[in-house]
Amino acid sequence: MIPANHPQLRSWIEVPQNHDFPIQNLPFGIFSTRGNPNNKRVGVAIGDYVLDLSAVAEHGFFNDLVELTDLSVFYESYLNPFIALGQSAWRATRQRISELLQHDNPTIRDNADLQKELLFAQKEVQMHLPVQIGDYTDFYSSLEHATNVGSMFRPDNPLFPNWKHLPVAYHGRASSIVVSGTPIRRPKGQSKPDYSEQPIFGASRSVDFELEVAFVIGKSTELGQSISVQEAENHIFGLLLFNDWSARDIQKWEYMPLGPFLGKNFASSVSPWIVTLDALEPFRTASPKQEPKVLPYLQFEGDKAFDIQLEVWVRAESGAEKLVCQSNFKYLYWNMAQQLAHHTVNGCNVNIGDLCASGTISGKEPNSFGSLLELTWGGKNPILMPDGSELRFLRDGDTVIMRGYAQKNGLRIGFGEVANQLLPAL
Ligand code: CA
Repeated sequence: MIPANHPQLRSWIEVPQNHDFPIQNLPFGIFSTRGNPNNKRVGVAIGDYVLDLSAVAEHGFFNDLVELTDLSVFYESYLNPFIALGQSAWRATRQRISELLQHDNPTIRDNADLQKELLFAQKEVQMHLPVQIGDYTDFYSSLEHATNVGSMFRPDNPLFPNWKHLPVAYHGRASSIVVSGTPIRRPKGQSKPDYSEQPIFGASRSVDFELEVAFVIGKSTELGQSISVQEAENHIFGLLLFNDWSARDIQKWEYMPLGPFLGKNFASSVSPWIVTLDALEPFRTASPKQEPKVLPYLQFEGDKAFDIQLEVWVRAESGAEKLVCQSNFKYLYWNMAQQLAHHTVNGCNVNIGDLCASGTISGKEPNSFGSLLELTWGGKNPILMPDGSELRFLRDGDTVIMRGYAQKNGLRIGFGEVANQLLPAL
């Protein structure tokens, strides 16, 4: 049996060079066919197609997999029940799908009727939020981002003394997390502009994106239980692109002393496909050196970062589009294993489907900053768009598109995209 990650594998489904979804990826999502939005089910992306796992199950292709104790999980509207079957079930499923799609397996390849039942063109389907999210935590794990924002908000004291000792985070709002394609409404709220003695109320004038990657909890814990750094990755199902929409004027006025609230909870958006840690295994890399040394419960061995290239594009209503940021997931000071270990060290329990987002991922170079706040330095240095307009913060009608992919030795494991348009305030 050839392992699903083998770089030499190829599928009988034609996958163009440098495509996000080759046979080595096989990310999981929830889709419905057009005109049938309530018939949600589990799918896997392969090239420009979606493989319908409920139909794969219907045809008995999973029947001999002892790890898959319940095939009804593939007919569910969220991935949570599938994820709950455990890591061995995810691996067995991914392996079986890989076998069915390998170029020398005639089972589906040579059966046109079966292909019609099992495969749908991605452009013909609607993607949905892949998991039911009970809780969402947002970390703040990029040293460059924390330093940039800190130096704008508190020039004398950019980095708080705790920052290099623990992965700082806040508990966000799960109810307003939406999938790629969902329009985002410009929020209204209270702010206090520098020119005004008193706070004002109105539509935010500084709506921003934050380039982040989120991991999906794949194994729950009991209240009181902690997850060690060594165990942490076994509790992660996979990764998504995450846009943490932010209203900077609201945020700036409200954040003291308890941190983010209405400047953040009006919307976050995610890419629809969850890329497994197994698919990303070839892209492990070293994290930045942590100095001073962290406490023992945060110490780790081996490579726990992943080399994932990240891009942000802004498309104006005119159609003019510009690449405004190129960053990398590996820049993060704190890795996912440390984040999860810290999150649970006090006995806080986690549940399947919970999201933990990385925080804005900025690098050292100015074009790698993961938010407009940093890229335009608070709106002072606008970005010139191809249509001649100036981008300081997001304008009504702008679409933010985030893309991510890992690429090495001809193998590319991509995330697709999270793309959402900003609509005017109501
Ligand atoms: Ca954030």
